[in-house]
Amino acid sequence: MIPGVLNMSRVIFHELRDLADALNLVLSLVNTLPTEIVSIKRSLGRILAEDIRAPISLPPFDRSSVDGYAVRSPDIASADEHKPIKLRLKGHVKVGETPRLEVNDHEAIEVDTGAAIPPGADSVVMEEYTSRENENTIIVYRSTSPGENVFYTGTDVMKDELVLTRGTRIGIKEISILSSLGINKVKVYMKPRIAIISTGRELIPPGSSYVPFKIYDTNSYMIYSFLTTLGCHAEILGIIPDDYDKLSSSIMKACEFYDLIITSGGTSAGKEDIVYRVLNDIGNIIVHGLRTRPGKPTLIALVNKKLVIGLPGHPVSAFMIMHVLVRPIVLKMMGCRRLNYPYIRAKLSRKLVLRKGYLNIIPVALIRVNDGFIAYPTFKGSGLLSSIIPADGFIEVEGNKEFLPANTWVEVKLFSDKISLPDLTFIGSHCLVTDKILSSLEMKGFLIRRIYVGSLEGLKACIRGEADIAGIHLLHEDSGQYNVPFIKLYGAEDKVVLIRGFKRRQGLVVAKGNPKSITNLKDILTRNDIRFVNRNKGSGTRILLDILLRSICKEEGIDFNSAIKRIKGYSWEVFTHTAVASAILHGKADVGIAVEYVARLMSLDFIPIAVEQYDYVIPRSKLSTKPVQQFLAMLKAIKNNLRLPGVEFTEDSGEIIEI
Ligand code: AMP
Ligand code: MG
Repeated sequence: MIPGVLNMSRVIFHELRDLADALNLVLSLVNTLPTEIVSIKRSLGRILAEDIRAPISLPPFDRSSVDGYAVRSPDIASADEHKPIKLRLKGHVKVGETPRLEVNDHEAIEVDTGAAIPPGADSVVMEEYTSRENENTIIVYRSTSPGENVFYTGTDVMKDELVLTRGTRIGIKEISILSSLGINKVKVYMKPRIAIISTGRELIPPGSSYVPFKIYDTNSYMIYSFLTTLGCHAEILGIIPDDYDKLSSSIMKACEFYDLIITSGGTSAGKEDIVYRVLNDIGNIIVHGLRTRPGKPTLIALVNKKLVIGLPGHPVSAFMIMHVLVRPIVLKMMGCRRLNYPYIRAKLSRKLVLRKGYLNIIPVALIRVNDGFIAYPTFKGSGLLSSIIPADGFIEVEGNKEFLPANTWVEVKLFSDKISLPDLTFIGSHCLVTDKILSSLEMKGFLIRRIYVGSLEGLKACIRGEADIAGIHLLHEDSGQYNVPFIKLYGAEDKVVLIRGFKRRQGLVVAKGNPKSITNLKDILTRNDIRFVNRNKGSGTRILLDILLRSICKEEGIDFNSAIKRIKGYSWEVFTHTAVASAILHGKADVGIAVEYVARLMSLDFIPIAVEQYDYVIPRSKLSTKPVQQFLAMLKAIKNNLRLPGVEFTEDSGEIIEI
């Protein structure tokens, strides 16, 4: 114990550990669990704790692969349609029977599929190439080569051959081979028993009624399902408020019954964050902070010879640390051979800004293009689950430079062994209309990938052929036109088509009753009692805002760059219309820009400032694909029956626009 720690109100992360170091240290401390014998019916997903050698050969004897006649191939070497050869039929071997007769020169014995080949025969002529002259004679219309239609003993597996090795995860294929070898019980490693504890006074369990300003416990269920998928026996012990005594007694109790204890929350350096103090008092802290982003406030301790891992509270951080740290530890306990991730190589879609001095762990979505895969970073913030929902895996990048350029080759570690490739990839601006169309395609069984990165990224992804459809609303400052000038700007007329979407009303979103009496955009520029919430760069809404602000500045003779510096919250960027509206709803900002229907859905006030054109861009090469055609059909279908405040379809909605 470090003297005086108990009295520290804040904990300082003295020595951040490299992830690889921390992992090696912990792996050297954990042992693989003992073994048990289970029936093969209960062995699915378990880890084999023994090598399996074949107790018999497979097939166990020479078998016929067809219904036909066991023959000696030289006897019928010259047989064909015109010169068939007669053989004396000597008998019949059925499946499961011991062959009692031998095939001699110019003789045949009838055999069923799977029956033993009688001695003397070297091949089987299929029933179809024979006819019966009488009870004792068959006519053969085709020759055979030695071995034809025979499965020889041991072709599949030879007796004593090593068929499965210790550390293999038992799947359907393994169970098939075990049962065909006559094995019905196997030795497997015991399942790790893992306790899960969520900490935080703000947490309430899912299923209970929502209490304002509380947070539903995400981590318990995320960790539980993560561990269950790996094949562990996980148990959720519940939520413990930030209370020193309660937490220490629950952890100590859990250490009696479980192989590993995972907590989440309370590991940072705040006054309320008591996990460090508890673990330091009841055990030994072996890692206090990781040099990773996210995931810095991770704790590893030994309590009563049991490993306790304190994960950060932010669900995305906790999720990533489960992957990079907890997974290999648990796999080692389970006796798995392979602790590494399956990975594929992909090219980075865009420039990636790095946190210097940290190992950056970044979730990415994968898109298949002609010559491989593109990795789209999806990280938006540790507290935002949308950072991981669309992701297929993650990359780890050392922050020894400011950024990683677009097109860099990266190794994507996959969340699952299988990547499910989507039928349709949508990249671009978020819109409820698009969402409805995509959802209806999902109902039809299409697998859809949605990546909301804003209009400009969507357009570029279409031009590069990575997206099947992009949704864009890009206002061109000089011409005042929407979308078309941008396709021309990129010289992409030959590569993509523009499909007319619909008009959307954009405006200022303010709290119900407009308490700050905001009337127009100029108020944002000139008043200093207003807090603003901005949209991300590259989003159509941000481009619209900046154009409108620039024009006001011009009229008023103000310098744009210094004016935006004065706007409180101009640098606070959120990624969706909904996020803008929710910032207003929760009083974090007084005004933001969003589409009308979002404001109305949240019962906020709305002051229109522009009507914009939201269109779809589709690569020409993808236009005729089934999912794209279905998308367009659905767009035309909903234009007559979808009513959303501020959304207006036109005659040409769903048609190709000439550029
Ligand atoms: P902490 O590490 O306790 O400071 O938590 C960091 C953030 O994660 C806070 O916003 C918490 O409300 C949130 N958080 C902590 N635990 C959970 C949990 N089990 N589920 C969802 N959010 C959580
Ligand atoms: Mg907390």
